[in-house]
Amino acid sequence: MPRRLETGQLITSSAVALLTLLSACSNWSPAPAAKPANILDVAVAWKQTAAEYEALYYQAYNLAQHQVEHALAQQLPGGQTLAVILDLDDTLLDTRDYWAQLLEADQDFFDDPSWDAWIPLNRVRAAPGALEFLNFCAVHGVEVFYVTSRDQGDATYQYALDQLIRLGFPYADTNHLTVLRESSNKQVRQNEIASSHKVVLLMGDNLNDFSRVYYVDNVTDRKALMRQDKALFGTRYILLPNPTDGHWIKAIFGDSEPSSSDENRRRWHDAAMGRGS
Ligand SMILES: [Mg+2]
Repeated sequence: MPRRLETGQLITSSAVALLTLLSACSNWSPAPAAKPANILDVAVAWKQTAAEYEALYYQAYNLAQHQVEHALAQQLPGGQTLAVILDLDDTLLDTRDYWAQLLEADQDFFDDPSWDAWIPLNRVRAAPGALEFLNFCAVHGVEVFYVTSRDQGDATYQYALDQLIRLGFPYADTNHLTVLRESSNKQVRQNEIASSHKVVLLMGDNLNDFSRVYYVDNVTDRKALMRQDKALFGTRYILLPNPTDGHWIKAIFGDSEPSSSDENRRRWHDAAMGRGS
């Protein structure tokens, strides 16, 4: 009965295949579900991985050194002491570890409490090129002033000062470090420094690090003000890249630290489509 024999063989083969499949299934576990995309993923990935991101820091600090060299060459005997003024976070301090931590916690907007908890952990590093430039300034008698806005309570100032000292930055002392806890307005301190020193340049990752003039909450107005000063960028104002935070966020949301909400995610999307204003 060849036909029945063939059928039997077929049934036996199918059973073996089924058993093999069942055996494989018993060892199978589903792949972990992919995490939904975080709206900060691209910006933070760029900060973490792009050689271009770090190259922009070298470019900024090379440019700054060029400007200082030019100022030194022009300096007259007995003239005012030259100075540079810098912001801290994302200008001379590398805060990428914070952003990785934020993503690890599945948060998709800057979060003040986690930032305030992160600062004392001392995980900031020197930004690419910053130490070399500031040491160049120190060697040539160009004073370095640090002006930052931070608020982590009573220890805020000490945290900032200790970080500068730990990383080996020059002029890390109370005469050269200003920490604004109540305001982001750096203009008052900048004017004080300018009254006693010849300020060669300012460095920051936010237009407000250069002048309070830029403190407007509107995308179009910020761009218009920036364009009026376009000749200052790369000469008196040296800007560092920051795609994760800054006053540009406030221009979109009306708040520098917008809450995590679907409404704000929709605003991100609108801004990305060129509809932010
Ligand atoms: Mg900054």
